[in-house]
Amino acid sequence: MGILNGKKILITGVLTDASLAFGVAQLAQAEGAEVLLTGFGRGLRLTQRTAKKLDPVPEVLELDVTNSEQAAAVSAAITEKWGSIDGALHAIGFAPADCLGDDFFAPEWSDVATALEVSAYSLRSLSDLVSPLMTSGGSIVGLTFDATVSWPAYNWMGVAKAALESLNRYLARELGPQDIRSNLVAAGPVKTMAAKSIPGFTKFEEKWQESAPLGWDVTNTEGVSKACVALLSDWFPQTTGSIIHVDGGYHSIGA
Ligand code: NAP
Repeated sequence: MGILNGKKILITGVLTDASLAFGVAQLAQAEGAEVLLTGFGRGLRLTQRTAKKLDPVPEVLELDVTNSEQAAAVSAAITEKWGSIDGALHAIGFAPADCLGDDFFAPEWSDVATALEVSAYSLRSLSDLVSPLMTSGGSIVGLTFDATVSWPAYNWMGVAKAALESLNRYLARELGPQDIRSNLVAAGPVKTMAAKSIPGFTKFEEKWQESAPLGWDVTNTEGVSKACVALLSDWFPQTTGSIIHVDGGYHSIGA
């Protein structure tokens, strides 16, 4: 019997089979969950194609997390299909190109606002969508890149992740009384589509390989998938507002 047996889970952010969310969807199914995916804009077709690599092939719903009409349609579709939901994975991030790279001061507020809305505020939007459907409690899990320190090139995405990490704590406070948990997994660098848009990503790769006590492979998403699935299960019943590091131990090393 799998640790997600009988659980119904909404998974955002599956774009390709390299996406962190793909590994989570695959393991969630193996652990007994029924999953629904969401796809976004021009990537929707890619999500539909990637969904075919999962068994059984899950339904894909359209969700731009900044679009409240699409969120309402997803909520209605879940209600019709399942009636209620047990878990949701937030694996969404985007920042306009000016927000990343060499010049921290390059972006205008409108670009920063987009990064903050899509990468941080969207956890609230997703929680607004799923929490009313979590009638027997539930678990919301998101993904961050350790925002307690600054990183080269990550710039405003790092600022957005800091907001995401704070929002996670506020959601835990607000949703706890409904037995809904909110947690984040702080992943080390993994080669996904989103990572390719970060200039100098290879620098992270080298640093991690050099310093992570457990070592690190930028193509292996297994540790992240396992942590997310564990948090979506009933095995972390008293954990909320937390950040679990899945980074080979890199965050714990000073020098
Ligand atoms: P990914 O495969 O590119 O996934 C990012 C997803 O966010 C894509 O499916 C993307 O869709 C979606 N998205 C962007 N804007 C959206 C919107 N408005 N509404 C709905 N979905 C939207 O990359 P990933 O690395 O797996 O990223 C998943 C999460 O893990 C992100 O939060 C990322 O910051 C986090 N993370 C990644 C790493 C890493 O090294 N890769 C490390 C730590 C944390 P489109 O591509 O179609 O726009």
